[in-house]
Amino acid sequence: MILRRETKQIHVGNVAVGGSSPVSVQSMTNTDTRDVAKTVAQIERLQDAGCEIIRVAVLDTDAAAAIRSIREKICIPLIADIHFDHRLAVAAMENGAQGIRINPGNLGGPEKLAKVVHAARAHRVPIRVGVNSGSIEKDLLKEFGYPSEDNPKSLIESALRNVRLLEEQGFSEIKISIKSSDTLTTISAYQQLSKLTDYPLHIGVTEAGGLIAGTVKSSVALGILLHQGIGDTFRISLTRDPVEEIRVGFELLRSLKIRERGPELISCPTCGRTQIDLFSIAEEVERYVQTMKKRLKVAVMGCVVNGPGEAKEADIGLAGGNGVGIIFKKGELYKKVKEEELLETFLNELKQLEEE
Ligand code: SF4
Repeated sequence: MILRRETKQIHVGNVAVGGSSPVSVQSMTNTDTRDVAKTVAQIERLQDAGCEIIRVAVLDTDAAAAIRSIREKICIPLIADIHFDHRLAVAAMENGAQGIRINPGNLGGPEKLAKVVHAARAHRVPIRVGVNSGSIEKDLLKEFGYPSEDNPKSLIESALRNVRLLEEQGFSEIKISIKSSDTLTTISAYQQLSKLTDYPLHIGVTEAGGLIAGTVKSSVALGILLHQGIGDTFRISLTRDPVEEIRVGFELLRSLKIRERGPELISCPTCGRTQIDLFSIAEEVERYVQTMKKRLKVAVMGCVVNGPGEAKEADIGLAGGNGVGIIFKKGELYKKVKEEELLETFLNELKQLEEE
């Protein structure tokens, strides 16, 4: 059983982060934030996939102003991602951002930071101090070196320095991220940081890569951290449609038995016994189960000889034969249909199960 490390709880809109709240899954849009229609359309797809917090890049005052229209049309809390410009941070909050990601040390002095903190307090907005390996201050790099698996100190010190700047302003609605594109550095940095602070941690591997490499890197780093009880919210960063980030995120939580969402799909890799086009069927079934909310175990197996037995614990499954397919429930034969009717019949069965 995983014991979550105790952290302070903050709220991003109506989503609690830290404390005893569930580990939340978030993503970031890749649209131009000023294009409200496109950004909202992407957020709606992300919401459908289960995204719980969304971050948008705010590059100028038009983007900060667009937050107001975006917020009116979406259901999940919105975080504004800002670099350097305190005026954009203030404008984003005035327009309804429910969280901001900004590094206090980059704002150009305590007066500008005070304005941001004042707005954050007035709008009850938490601040994420988000440090990446590439954003560490020069003096810290000189003192501690570039962060590595054995010595992630510069990353940690940079985050703590930025946190202190907020604390000096009497502000403590903070969460922290310290991301590296290196898996092992990410793990050791968060492990060490978690011993030094009880602010909630946003975990992630930055610039993790495409679907396969990014999923593997993120799953290894975040999987190890979450298994050790470290991490209150996370984003899987992929060079891909952000909806995939959410799917990977929930599969990761499911595999650690931390949270579940929708059906679990198990499918066999196929072998010399497979006599149907299982890949196409599995793909269609996967597409369909992604739209389902009910928690079920669904199996797609290549053969009738071993399939149902191997997937005994599945609520429902299919197995291919020679010109036929069987649909089984809990490992027992339920229906036998012609191969060409197998997919359609199976999808109808899934639909019925969802409605039951
Ligand atoms: S379920 Fe059948 S087809 Fe699939 S891997 Fe196992 S033995 Fe092979």
